[in-house]
Amino acid sequence: MSACIFCKIAAGEIPSKKVMETDTIFAFEDIHPQAPAHILIVPKRHIESSLAFSKDEASLLCEIFLAANDIARQRGLDKKGFRIVTNTGLEAGQSVFHVHFHLLGGRPMGWPPG
Ligand code: 5GP
Ligand code: ZN
Repeated sequence: MSACIFCKIAAGEIPSKKVMETDTIFAFEDIHPQAPAHILIVPKRHIESSLAFSKDEASLLCEIFLAANDIARQRGLDKKGFRIVTNTGLEAGQSVFHVHFHLLGGRPMGWPPG
């Protein structure tokens, strides 16, 4: 059995506030939200980080971005804007090594990010 926390969340073995789910992806509320809307979108299949992507993940990546658009529209974030973030590696702040996309919105965002 995988020791990966996001594998367990995606499999329903660890509880989360589910936002949406398909056969291949799972979206849930971040446990420590950094904005009024902070949703994590993950592939159900374990992929360590964005560095492991190949062309084989083309349709998966498209599905993730379309899901982010759907969630953003459902929450009215499309009106003012939102941010999609993937941290890759320790220096970027990746703390869970199962690739995930942060969907953040509901407040003004600074640039550059910290
Ligand atoms: P990273 O730092 O890897 O880019 O993002 C990991 C994110 O996962 C963090 O925003 C953190 O709050 C979130 N997180 C870590 N553990 C859990 C958990 O058990 N449940 C949920 N819902 N989010 C988690
Ligand atoms: Zn995993």
